[in-house]
Amino acid sequence: MDELLSKENLHYREKTKEIADRYVRPVAAELDRNAEYPWSVVRALQEEGLMGVWIPKDYGGAGAGVLNLCIVVEELSKACGGVGVTYAVNALGSFPLLVGGTEEQKKKHLPELAAGRKLIAFGLSEKKAGSDAGSLQTRATKDGDSHYLINGEKKWNTNGGAANLYTVFTTVNPERGGRGITAFIVEKGMEGFLIGKKEDLMGIRCVPVHELHFENCRVPAENLLGGKEGHGFKHAMMTLDLARPGVAAQAVGLAQGALDLAIKYVNEREQFGQKVSSFQAIQFMLADMATQIEAARQLVYQSARAADLGAKNTSKFAAMAKVFATDTAMMVTTNCVQLFGGYGYCRDYPIEKYMRDAKITQIYEGTNQVQRLVISRALIKEAAGG
Ligand SMILES: Cc1cc2nc3c(=O)[nH]c(=O)nc-3n(C[C@H](O)[C@H](O)[C@H](O)COP(=O)(O)OP(=O)(O)OC[C@H]3O[C@@H](n4cnc5c(N)ncnc54)[C@H](O)[C@@H]3O)c2cc1C
Repeated sequence: MDELLSKENLHYREKTKEIADRYVRPVAAELDRNAEYPWSVVRALQEEGLMGVWIPKDYGGAGAGVLNLCIVVEELSKACGGVGVTYAVNALGSFPLLVGGTEEQKKKHLPELAAGRKLIAFGLSEKKAGSDAGSLQTRATKDGDSHYLINGEKKWNTNGGAANLYTVFTTVNPERGGRGITAFIVEKGMEGFLIGKKEDLMGIRCVPVHELHFENCRVPAENLLGGKEGHGFKHAMMTLDLARPGVAAQAVGLAQGALDLAIKYVNEREQFGQKVSSFQAIQFMLADMATQIEAARQLVYQSARAADLGAKNTSKFAAMAKVFATDTAMMVTTNCVQLFGGYGYCRDYPIEKYMRDAKITQIYEGTNQVQRLVISRALIKEAAGG
């Protein structure tokens, strides 16, 4: 319902739609096939001033918050889920700076990101530390007063290689568990920082996901996020609360994009001498999918508004939006493949890509099992008066 959106929301949606129509739709299949980074789309987003939508005006951004970030991600993801995450990962990478960076760190990096002159990635997960991110092992040790040495490796770094900046979560003291976790801003090209293996993914294939290796990587102490050791885990969790509505928006975009294609297809395809869309079984599927997408969209927008207002229950709403929207996307994209029949199962048609792209939204930025833990813990805490 456009009436529920502000003029600013509609403006971002319209601008992004133009970019998606012109730069994404014509090449989405090719980007997927070749696992090719969508540089032309990123350049278009830069030129239109969309790379800093969520970054405050004081740091060169548009100051348009998480809701408008979600609207841009949704619109890009309607055309290609991979392009949606290529864009959204810059928010994920920059939120640690926003929630935990010193004034100097913000002033140094955020304007570059807002202008799209630099791209950023988020390095939390490791081979043995996924859902249990607090058990990460990448180690930072002091090297004199002015530097740290980072050793270890990160897994699943979205935007790896393409990004210029990396927020990297390390431990300065593994015995302290989550309280030893400390984040650093690592710059591409720093000695001892290597981009490792590129993953061969099921979906979102145009965005590079790499391992990162740190071999005595010497990082200036001024790159320690927030200037104080031991705050990294808190910054990572605050980041995920702000970023999860974006993953949920990616899921809504994918679901809507798939449904739009399926409606067109069943309106054209004929069997038994009539359009497939004339069968009631098909109509009910369309009705259920559209209803669930709309419910997901409203929850996503609500969670984004909660994030923008700094509401107390931001974390719970972000997790609810992620669970509901991403489960919806998986259900809808699978049913849309069904509506294409056999043609849905082959790469001559664009629909199977939506299903492949949707699957990751249930996994990254905390699996949906983990989101259900976040929600239930919040409920129990609320009931106890917390
Ligand atoms: C394509 C891709 C891109 C990614 N991008 C990034 C990125 O940019 N930066 C980054 O830091 N990470 C990134 N990740 C990592 C992602 O966030 C993790 O894969 C995710 O958090 C799950 O961790 P895991 O893969 O180790 O699975 P595990 O944690 O090993 O989970 C395995 C299974 O166990 C379940 N499980 C685990 N713990 C519990 C529990 N307590 N209760 C119930 N079930 C549980 C999980 O839900 C899952 O089903 C990316 C991953 C992928 C695949």
